Amino acid sequence: MFKIPTLDKLVHEIARLPGVGPKSAQRLTHFLLKNPNYSEELRETLKLVEESIVLCKTCFNYTDNPERICRICQSPHRSAELMCVVEQPEDILQIESSGGYSGLYHVLHGAISPLEGMTPEKLKIRELIKRLDSADGVIEEVILAVDSDLEGDTTVLYLNQELSERSLKVTRLAQGIPMGSDIDYIDDRTLHRALSHRTEV
Ligand SMILES: [Zn+2]
Repeated sequence: MFKIPTLDKLVHEIARLPGVGPKSAQRLTHFLLKNPNYSEELRETLKLVEESIVLCKTCFNYTDNPERICRICQSPHRSAELMCVVEQPEDILQIESSGGYSGLYHVLHGAISPLEGMTPEKLKIRELIKRLDSADGVIEEVILAVDSDLEGDTTVLYLNQELSERSLKVTRLAQGIPMGSDIDYIDDRTLHRALSHRTEV
């Protein structure tokens, strides 16, 4: 097969992006070749992001504020008594777009996974505890909005234990049947969780 190493390198790099298969990577590479203006704009935007995006010094979300304080931490309109703990900064976008939450956030930057070497020390857990302790009783509830998988469960167990001696309400997002789905198609584990987390109607 006819090969152009420089182009293949670009295809290879694009294919490393999540959700992009080899075919799409080929298409995107040729799109970039045919649109040099777009290619230039993309290059500049990537550079700008690399240079200006930092982590908020309070919640560890991304921010482009050189003072390292994100928009949410700065806002006087957020409920300071609620703290939602998420695994990744992108989880904040999801929760924000649901429109169902107006409290503060804390990003762990991962979940506990001893097999992958992700120990509590590598996450922003120490910072979370420090933040809760220095909030002087303002925070009443910590919502653990972590994934519903083994790593998420391990993180919940660990945090619940760490926070048990503080006068805080520790909750986890409800787990069960997704909206609009048919019980026949739900897997056993999800159905088991939905049954144990059932609510009164
Ligand atoms: Zn922040």
